[in-house]
Amino acid sequence: MTATPDRPGGAGAVPPDDAAPPDGAALPVADPATTRRAALRLIRRDGRAFALMLALNALAAGAGLAGPWLLGRIVDTVRDGGGVGTVDRLALVILVCAVAQLLLARYARFVGYRFGERTVARIREQYVDRALALPAATVERAGTGDLTARGTSDVTAVAETLRDAAPEVGVAAVQALFLLGAVVVLDPLLGACGLGLLCGLVAVRWYLRRAHTAYLAEGAATSALAELLSATAAGARTVEALGLGERRRAACEQAVERCRRTRTRTLFLRSVLLPAVDVSYVLPVVGVLLVGGALHGHGAVSLGVVVSAALYLRQLSEPLETILWWLEQLQSSGAAFARVEGLGRAPGAGTAPAARLPHPSPEPSSTTTASPAPADDRIDVTAVHYAYATGDNGPHTTPRDVLHGVDLTVRPGERLAVVGPSGAGKSTLGRLLAGIDAPRSGSVTVGRVPIAALDPEVLRRQVVLVTQEHHVFLGTLRDNLHIAAPGAADATLRAALAAVGAEWAEELPAGLDTELGAGGHRPDGAQSQQLALARVVLADPHTLILDEATALLDPRTARHTERALAAVLRDRTVIAIAHRLHTAHDADRVAVMEGGRLTELGTHDELVAADGAYAALWHSWHGRGTAG
Ligand code: ATP
Repeated sequence: MTATPDRPGGAGAVPPDDAAPPDGAALPVADPATTRRAALRLIRRDGRAFALMLALNALAAGAGLAGPWLLGRIVDTVRDGGGVGTVDRLALVILVCAVAQLLLARYARFVGYRFGERTVARIREQYVDRALALPAATVERAGTGDLTARGTSDVTAVAETLRDAAPEVGVAAVQALFLLGAVVVLDPLLGACGLGLLCGLVAVRWYLRRAHTAYLAEGAATSALAELLSATAAGARTVEALGLGERRRAACEQAVERCRRTRTRTLFLRSVLLPAVDVSYVLPVVGVLLVGGALHGHGAVSLGVVVSAALYLRQLSEPLETILWWLEQLQSSGAAFARVEGLGRAPGAGTAPAARLPHPSPEPSSTTTASPAPADDRIDVTAVHYAYATGDNGPHTTPRDVLHGVDLTVRPGERLAVVGPSGAGKSTLGRLLAGIDAPRSGSVTVGRVPIAALDPEVLRRQVVLVTQEHHVFLGTLRDNLHIAAPGAADATLRAALAAVGAEWAEELPAGLDTELGAGGHRPDGAQSQQLALARVVLADPHTLILDEATALLDPRTARHTERALAAVLRDRTVIAIAHRLHTAHDADRVAVMEGGRLTELGTHDELVAADGAYAALWHSWHGRGTAG
């Protein structure tokens, strides 16, 4: 119920054709250094498993080296006329080493998979924590498509890498190093033939330099498409009603085209990389055979050594192939991880009230700080300027202020009506008073503490914004109520439901355990609103801000809700953003907003007597009201 007003993408809102968030509003992406640090932190969290995986890989790779070396010994033994018994013994050792390598590699993979799964679980937990901690305003500006894409396809890409790619690449990297080392030990000159691999390295370097940006662009294009599709689906009725189908289709086609272009770019990069790398595998083996043949001709090395070196370098292609096979995955998941990590740098992520929610994961939150408790219930708005960061004005220009130096003190227990023409800034002021947004300059405080900096549990007990949005969460009726008062006793929950006249809750088959939403009891509009109001009763704030709380309901539902609302309002400070002036007439004081400024403040009678903007509004409304 501390929901944001139904603004972008809400019922009746036309989703913009360019539904991707503007640059100033998009969620950030972590830079490479931050991403690397985050990856290292994750490795350190499970350092022992990681070290064990590396050690097992090293042992497996060591066992794998024995085969070619022993094969070389067999060649030399046969050439020197050695006995069959020696050859058999060497062959047996080769077999034992191969089995040992197989077992060690399997165990290394097993340890790697477990490490990967645990790490993925941590990333998921951290993602959920961070997503929940984002200020509503940030999510609103960025759009849910990007957030969803990061939480689904990006986290999945990282998970697949950790589950499959990381253990495979770990094994392969250690094997490759050992094989190269072995050739150098056999004969440094033959080892130099391994330089043929440099050709592949040059190609890999060329690829890596371009791939990160290319995969980021591909990820961003996919997110933009997801955002566009979800915004179109959410506003489908509006799109249909206003005949915007063609424009939406054109926008979708553009987004699909951008996806295709970015995908083609990543495919091109791979089409250059893979053939270059294939050639680089063959070059060292050819080099060893040529150089080794010449050296053997001069008696510098035995035939066995040449055979072993050729086999080692030939074997090298297998781990390198594995590394390359996963390189694309590593690249794309590196970009995906940067996007997932970027969530921690979203505007307000470190300062949002929910960022200080108790952390379910054992990872300590660097943003955890306790906010001071308000001294009393007085709300002060002082010299407040506020601008929505729309990005429309370009990244280097200051966004346009919609509130200009607003000053207001709300006295505890009073009924304050905020009136004014459409677009005057009433809802924006409501958002600042509810702590959803913080002012660009000036301050909005409760008991001398900035409202937007309060812990969510503290904020809930101070100010709650009631809008026409009334979300029912999937879960039981009890879960839905516990959101506002975690751990509250059933009797308290029932009393809250009774206070808002939700008698229907008593008749539910499983009482508070009844599942709500799809597959369970589906509350109608009035019931959902009562549920939302029951949450307000449970949160028990001293101040309520009402913004169009009953504006869009049919008269029967509105009457129902207003009765429930009356029970909720009792003994609280109420700031009502008034769309019908009878609310203003009944209020203790009326604040008039015009063009983002507070132009009049006083009782109804004072303002009518002053004969200003409010008097004009009142006379025109009253005249209309009595005429109708
Ligand atoms: P109404 O009575 O029509 O709801 P209001 O007085 O509540 O209007 P606000 O909704 O606060 O006015 O809007 C004040 C200004 O801020 C308007 O110019 C509006 O276009 C702009 N605005 C409101 N919400 C957003 C938003 N999410 N992003 C960008 N600009 C916004």
